[in-house]
Amino acid sequence: MIRYISTRNSEHKVSSAQAILNGQAPDGGLYIPDDLDAIRLDYHDVIGDAGSSYDFRQMAVRVWNTFFPDYGEETIIDLVEKSYRDKFSKEEITPVSKVGDAYVLELYHGPTAAFKDVALSALPNLLTKARELCSFTDETLILTATSGDTGSAALCGFGDVPGTRIIVFYPEGGVSETQKLQMVTAPGSNTQATAVKGNFDDAQTGVKKLFKEIPQPAKGVSLSSANSINIGRLVPQVVYYFAAYRQLLDMGAISDGDKVNFTVPTGNFGDIMAGYFAMKMGLPVGTLVCASNMNDVLTEFLETGHYDRKREFFKTTSPSMDILVSSNLERLLYYICGEENSKRYMKELSENGEYQISDEELRSIREVFVGLAATDEEGSKAIGDVFAEHHYLMDTHTAIAWNCHEKFDSSDTAANVILSTASPYKFCRSVLKALGEEAAASDYENMLRCKEITGAEIPSGLRDIFSREIRHTDVIECDEMKEYVISKSQH
Ligand SMILES: *Cc1c(COP(=O)(O)O)cnc(C)c1O
Repeated sequence: MIRYISTRNSEHKVSSAQAILNGQAPDGGLYIPDDLDAIRLDYHDVIGDAGSSYDFRQMAVRVWNTFFPDYGEETIIDLVEKSYRDKFSKEEITPVSKVGDAYVLELYHGPTAAFKDVALSALPNLLTKARELCSFTDETLILTATSGDTGSAALCGFGDVPGTRIIVFYPEGGVSETQKLQMVTAPGSNTQATAVKGNFDDAQTGVKKLFKEIPQPAKGVSLSSANSINIGRLVPQVVYYFAAYRQLLDMGAISDGDKVNFTVPTGNFGDIMAGYFAMKMGLPVGTLVCASNMNDVLTEFLETGHYDRKREFFKTTSPSMDILVSSNLERLLYYICGEENSKRYMKELSENGEYQISDEELRSIREVFVGLAATDEEGSKAIGDVFAEHHYLMDTHTAIAWNCHEKFDSSDTAANVILSTASPYKFCRSVLKALGEEAAASDYENMLRCKEITGAEIPSGLRDIFSREIRHTDVIECDEMKEYVISKSQH
């Protein structure tokens, strides 16, 4: 049975339930399966054979069961059902659309209109069960730093879940009006959305520090995480790589066994790391294209092996990718470089803000990953061009991936899937500008205008945020986070 180890100490081994409950390992490392060979299987076991193809939920059962063996299959069937019943507006959960000669995997048909719903519909159920499996009686306080989309998806997922409370920290001024409204109007008696005076990296660094410093901020209260540092968030994302493959087969776009490339709009390296796990499970994956915006720290890293966070931070029109410290890269580094080296790199990153991996390590990473980047202008042009040519509307994050897909090696003949991570309605202002329209001052008007132009339905989760009561108004300094969490933990 697979166990979970910390990337910073392979001696620290826990069950999957414990890993999900803890969120982050006590030494500051991330939990990963101790044995990648143990997750390997015949991918037909996940997607089904030609005569009996599986749907998203059936695939989820097989993937979760592989990663979370201590839950038991019966329990997993029940948790998958609870997680996805009536929450997504599409039957397929994550449908694939053919756009030109590429395939767009739409991950945004959940309650908050971004791909994070796929995992955050699942995590509260996995966590609640983990509490039970570990006979854990403390209240679980979820702390989450968000670049915009995790916040609303996590507030939505954890709202009124018994035994839990959640505080979301978002960068003040670093999220769109729609994203902010989604968070500050979040219902639930156990929810809190708080602005931090800083950028996403400041908020994430602050949260990571709290896990080390105050794992129990009050008696009877323990911290956990809804960020993609929690393995319970990463694994539900593995499923849609299989679901995409299944759909490409059913569409006749590929033959069974063909490799498929995935282009992933990347921030914290979580989504694309899930693709790596899918590949390690045995899915025929060609290249994982890591698409970045102007915050192209990963592009340089995948080109040169030099990770350097000491660079200008750009606020872009794809804010959920405005990240300079991509946490999940630590998981990949552990597998590629081993414990000692990856630990050293993480230490160098925190002390000097940079590290350099060896040529051999870089070569090994580049067998799977390619890093490309696009500017706001290139993304904007992609939105306009794709709409003009195919009448298909993309959001600003998907557009970055689209442009990187176009820059990717044209001699590679594998089918290309572009992960679409947010509904265009979440970023109406930028999308309208990309279509050559004037954007109005309020996102509400922009949303209506987008609907007029495209005829596409406004996602139900976005329709009412402009009329909901604003419930969360706190704004704090980064160095006040600790006190803030302690005071919120008192009953
Ligand atoms: C979070 C997010 C991303 C980045 O995903 P990571 O897992 O952090 O790499 C990309 N696009 C959107 C819309 C997001 O919300």
